[in-house]
Amino acid sequence: MQEKHITDKIKSSYPFVDIVFGTHTLHKFPEDLYKALETKKKLEDIIDIDGEIYEGLPIKRDSKIKASVTIMNGCNNFCSYCIVPYVRGRERSRQPKNIICEIEDLAKNGYKEITLLGQNVNSYLKVEKEKNIPFEQYRGINSFATLLKEINKIDGIERIRFISPHPKDFTDDVIEAIASSNKVCKLVHLPLQAGNTRVLKDMNRKYTKEQYLSLVEKMKNKIPNLTLSTDIIVGFPGETDEEFEDTLDVVKKVKFEQVYMFIYSRRVGTPGDKMKNQIPEEEKHKRFDKLKELVENQMEESNKKYIGTMQKVLVEGESKNNKDVLTGRTDSNKVVVFEGDKSLIGKMVELKIISEHMWYLRGEI
Ligand code: SF4
Repeated sequence: MQEKHITDKIKSSYPFVDIVFGTHTLHKFPEDLYKALETKKKLEDIIDIDGEIYEGLPIKRDSKIKASVTIMNGCNNFCSYCIVPYVRGRERSRQPKNIICEIEDLAKNGYKEITLLGQNVNSYLKVEKEKNIPFEQYRGINSFATLLKEINKIDGIERIRFISPHPKDFTDDVIEAIASSNKVCKLVHLPLQAGNTRVLKDMNRKYTKEQYLSLVEKMKNKIPNLTLSTDIIVGFPGETDEEFEDTLDVVKKVKFEQVYMFIYSRRVGTPGDKMKNQIPEEEKHKRFDKLKELVENQMEESNKKYIGTMQKVLVEGESKNNKDVLTGRTDSNKVVVFEGDKSLIGKMVELKIISEHMWYLRGEI
C-alpha cells in the first residue's frame, strides 16, 4: 500500500475496502479500525517518511521453539530491482537493550532458536554511528558483531541465525563473532544475486564477482565447518548468456548448501523496471532451468556427505506429511526426519544420518 499504483488499484477495483494503511502506519491499525467503525467512513492512512521504530507491538508467534526477532528496519542500498527501500524507508536499528530483553524473554518462555531479521542485518547500528544518531549504551553493544556475542551469552537460547546480511558489509569482526560464538549457526546466508560484475553493477550491489568469491574464501578459512546459502536472480535486464555463465561459475565454486532461485520480475517504481533491455520470458526460464539443474546436482552431492555423520538436530514437531515421524533441522538448516518420542519436541537431539532425499535427510537416534 506504500506504492501509489497499488493503492489506486485497490480503490478502483475493490471499492468495499474500508481501511488502507501503509508500512509506516501499521502500528496505528487498532486506532484506524476504531475510527472506521465509529465514523462508518473509508479511511486511508499512508504516510511517506524515512521510518521509525515502534516498540511494544503485539507479536503472534507460530512456533514455541523458534522465534524471529527484528533488529532493524528499512534499507539504504537501493538495489535496482528492489522495491524495499521505497516502501520501508531508510535503515534504522532497534535499541540494543530492547533486542536483548525480547530475546531473554523468549528464552524464559522456552524458545531455543532465534533468527535475527533485517534487510541488511550486518549494518546494524552503522547508520546511527555514521550520522551521530544517539543510541542507548547497553552491555557494550555497538555493532552487529557485538550484538551476536551478547545474544550468544543468553541462557536457554541454543541457536542463533540471521537474515539477510549484505556481502559489502560483511566485516572481519562479524566473521570473528560467528567463528567464536558457539550458538551462532555456521550456515550463513550470503545473497549473491548475480555472478557477473557488470550485471552486479547494474543491480547496484556494490561488489564484484571477485570480491564476493574472496569474501567466501576468507569466511571459509576463518569459520570451521561453514556452509553457505544464497539468493540468485536470473534474467536481470541486459544479462547476456555469457554473463549468466558467471553466475553458474560462482555456484560451482562456492558449492552453496541451499540456493533460493528467482526469475527476474519487474517492479514498478524501481530502476530495473525502466531498463530497456528486458530479457524475454522464455530466455529467463531457460536460464532458470539450467541453474536449477546445477543446484539440484550440487545438493544431491552435498546431501550425500551427511550420510553416516552425527548431527545435532533441534526437534520442531511432527512431520506434516507423516505424523509417525518427527522433524527438525541441523545447524546447516537441513530438514531431518526420524522416528522418536513426541517428548523430544523442542529438544536438541543427536542423530545419525542414514539417507538423503533431495529436500530432507533421514536420521535415527
Ligand atoms: S535487495 Fe536487500 S539490500 Fe538490496 S535494496 Fe532490497 S532490501 Fe535492500
